[in-house]
Amino acid sequence: MQLSLCLARSPLEDVRDVLLAAFGPQRPKARMDPISQLVKSSISHRTLDAVSWAAFLRLQGAFRTWEDLAGAEPDQVLALIDDVTHAPDKARRLPIALRMIQDRIGWLSLSHLRNLTVEQARHELRALPGVGQKVAASVLNFSSLAMRDLVVDSHVHRTAQRLGLVGPGDPTHSYHALMALAPDAWTADDLFELHCLMKHGLGQMLCPHDAPKCGACPLKAQCRRVGLEGATVLPWRPRDG
Ligand code: SF4
Repeated sequence: MQLSLCLARSPLEDVRDVLLAAFGPQRPKARMDPISQLVKSSISHRTLDAVSWAAFLRLQGAFRTWEDLAGAEPDQVLALIDDVTHAPDKARRLPIALRMIQDRIGWLSLSHLRNLTVEQARHELRALPGVGQKVAASVLNFSSLAMRDLVVDSHVHRTAQRLGLVGPGDPTHSYHALMALAPDAWTADDLFELHCLMKHGLGQMLCPHDAPKCGACPLKAQCRRVGLEGATVLPWRPRDG
C-alpha cells in the first residue's frame, strides 16, 4: 500500500515543493477582470513584462472603456503599444477580438466563461484572433475567473523540458503534459503559484536560456538537464521521503 501511494505522487509535486522551499509562496495578490486580462495578455507575447505593463497602462489611460478600444482604429492602438513585439499585428487583432466578443454575447464581457469547463472556455477564447494557448490560459487562470489552468510561457516550457517533466515538443505539448501531471486537488491558485515558481524563480533566476546556474539550483539532484551540452541524462529522481 505504501509503495502504490509513493508511486502515485506526481513529479510536479516534488518540483513545486522544492521551489516553494527555495522561493516562498507565490499566491495571487490581485486579479483583473477577464477583459482587462485579455487586453494585457494579448499585448504581452514575446515582450518584457515592464514593456507590456507600460503599454497596457497607456491603453487604459487613452480609452475610457474597453468598448472604446473595441471601436478604435488599428493606427490609434499601434501608437500606444508600438514598443511591444509584433505591435502592428496586435494593434490590428485586439479590437477585432473585442468586437467578436461583443457580437457573440451582446456586450463586452467574458464572465460567462466561469460557467463552462476549462476545455470549453479555452476553445471559445482560442477562436479569437491573436489568442493562443498562453493567452487563453492567462485569461482563465490569472483573471477573476480563477479557473484551473496553467500558463505555460517560454520559461515554464524550457525548464519543464530540461527537468525531464515533458518530452520534446512545442509549448502547447508541454501545457497538456504538465496539466496531466497536475494533481486533481490543485486549485487555480496552486497552478498560478506553479507558474510563478517555474517562470520567475527557476526560469529567470536560475535556469535562463543561455547559462543555467545548475550548481545553485535546488533541483539539481532531480534534474535531467535535457538539451544541455555535456549533461548526464538521468531518470527522474523523486525526493527522499
Ligand atoms: S539543474 Fe540546471 S538545467 Fe536543471 S533546472 Fe536547475 S538550472 Fe535548470
